[in-house]
Amino acid sequence: MPEIKRCSWGDTDDELSRKYHDEEWGKFNLDEKYLYEMLVLESFQSGLSWATILYKRENFRHAFADFDVEKVSKFTDADFERLMNDAGIIRNKLKINAAINNAQVLSNWHRNGNCFSTFLCEFIPNPIIHHFDSESDVPAKNELSAKISKEMKKQGFKFVGPTTIYSFLQAVGLINDHIEKCSFKY
Ligand SMILES: [Zn+2]
Repeated sequence: MPEIKRCSWGDTDDELSRKYHDEEWGKFNLDEKYLYEMLVLESFQSGLSWATILYKRENFRHAFADFDVEKVSKFTDADFERLMNDAGIIRNKLKINAAINNAQVLSNWHRNGNCFSTFLCEFIPNPIIHHFDSESDVPAKNELSAKISKEMKKQGFKFVGPTTIYSFLQAVGLINDHIEKCSFKY
């Protein structure tokens, strides 16, 4: 059997991180609900480790109505308080506000017949596959993520800086940044 090689962050005994690397990260998935989930998780990740978020992922799922955009878009002040008191997630006022706000933006889009996936594909019609030899070559952001970030802010999204958006694009497979030798690149 050929030896399995991984990006170094996925080459770990931490099962959640390894499984996420092997089965999810970089895999093209533009399901509307999944896009919202990853946008929320990536915005909460800002300043923290991704492993921290993965360990709290099920708590986030529970706290944010299974990442149902319509349901979250109708969250009330009481829901906001509930989230601020939920020790299972990251209790950050700005991030919680942004997650609810972003569901409202997406809900409006859906009502008007627009969707997140179409918006993203206007910038990235086909997944971008980078061929980096080393993880030190993988950028934290680029011109494209800056452009998408700028347009999303214009559309009313919050907490969507170029770095968060770059990570988000990697997560949903619009940018494939598994390093060249990684067995999970394709
Ligand atoms: Zn990899």
